[in-house]
Amino acid sequence: MGDPLISREDAAEALGMVARAAGKYLDVLPHLPVRDLSQAHLVKELDGPLPEDGDGTMTAVADLLRIGTRAATHSSGPRFFHFVVGGSTPAAQAGDWVTSLLDQAAGLWLTSPLATQAETTVLRWLKEMFGLPAGYGGVLTPSATFANLTGLACARHWWAARHGVDVTADGLVGLPRMPVFSSGYVHASSRKALQLLGLGRDYVRTLTRDDAGRLDLEALDRELAVSGPAVLIANAGEVNAGDFDPVDEMADLAREHGAWLHVDGAFGLFAALSPQTAHLVRGVERADSLAADGHKWLNVPYESGFAFVKDPLSLGRAFGGWNAPYLPEPDDEFVNYNNLGPESSRRARALPIWTTLRAYGRSGHRAMVERHRDLAVRLGGIVERSADLELLAPVNLFVVCFRYRPPGVPEDRLDELNRRLGEELLDDGRVYVGTTVYRGRVALRPAIVNWRTTAEDIDLLASVVREIGARLADRIEPGQ
Ligand SMILES: *Cc1c(COP(=O)(O)O)cnc(C)c1O
Repeated sequence: MGDPLISREDAAEALGMVARAAGKYLDVLPHLPVRDLSQAHLVKELDGPLPEDGDGTMTAVADLLRIGTRAATHSSGPRFFHFVVGGSTPAAQAGDWVTSLLDQAAGLWLTSPLATQAETTVLRWLKEMFGLPAGYGGVLTPSATFANLTGLACARHWWAARHGVDVTADGLVGLPRMPVFSSGYVHASSRKALQLLGLGRDYVRTLTRDDAGRLDLEALDRELAVSGPAVLIANAGEVNAGDFDPVDEMADLAREHGAWLHVDGAFGLFAALSPQTAHLVRGVERADSLAADGHKWLNVPYESGFAFVKDPLSLGRAFGGWNAPYLPEPDDEFVNYNNLGPESSRRARALPIWTTLRAYGRSGHRAMVERHRDLAVRLGGIVERSADLELLAPVNLFVVCFRYRPPGVPEDRLDELNRRLGEELLDDGRVYVGTTVYRGRVALRPAIVNWRTTAEDIDLLASVVREIGARLADRIEPGQ
């Protein structure tokens, strides 16, 4: 078989095979268990020695389809509620296939004016959706982790410049430590970004006023008064209960004390789409930098994220290459996006975003946001009406934080019970929900962010939790 040049006419045939398999897979996806343990052994079939001659295009692709459609986690279906994992809208998924078909090198205008124009356009559309000023700069990233890295790299450049240092050219040597403040909601990915930037993962000062981690604004005010130039991380949507830091108040403090405000809005930024939830993100339009994800609430396939900055030139300052600081003007058509973010070569990840926004528009994505919130409220209602379930935080977005708490099980056994419940739910696979620790209690925290999810899926989630919970509670002997 060997040389792909010999099999060049296979290309269209192989894609045809994928398309036929896609039809079948998508037909059954809503009915599949999220994870089918009976098929788990198939992943081992991926392993084996490096082929010397190869089996040829059709055999390899057929094998991947056979294994993949059975052994994959069916997380793009309607009942994956663990973490915050979005699905793929039909248009986004097709747009993603086109991205692979065209295989653009999307780092430079010269290598793909198509990808560059699409990126410029979707960044403008996203700013409009989030209510960000048109003059903000932006860049697409693989994820919110990279978007946090992008925003915080700009913050670091700004902060070092306040100390008279060009950190892009000269690094951090000789500088004091950069003060970073946040609430207890700060996401691990912001810490990872700080760690990569040489600022220290553990140097974030979290100023909290309760055991949920809510921000102590007065303490922040006091700290900023003495810290010198500092960076604030506002968390617009935290993963345990879907709560938000007070972004607008943080923007007030940032202005008053001359601090940089970075907003991690991985999923929460999408709250801006609906009048029901827009109040949660009031003030994001005043941030110096922002990060969000496409592969969560936008329902675009992995990998997809975006970063925005108030000063569009700050991206080029933080990421421009050696001796070639290409700083595009905000209306420059010939943008080289690889100078504006952490990547160099990159795929045309604007295309699936373009396709889904073109297909469904602002109102379609607003409808999805509102439906997910309605479904979360529905689940919250079921929890509150059920004697064996306990809601642990108000529902304000798409996360429902609750635990199984049947009458008769003592408080000191509830963590163990809920931890086992989480494990059994994941093994069961009908609905996929794991546990977290919220205010010192083991809790379930399903997140509803898939366009396919319906009220029946939510009702099934509640009934499976209660069914498995009851079985486990029976095994807990009083006083054991
Ligand atoms: C998921 C998430 C991130 C990280 O996003 P990735 O896409 O996984 O890199 C950052 N912040 C918050 C609040 C998140 O929910």
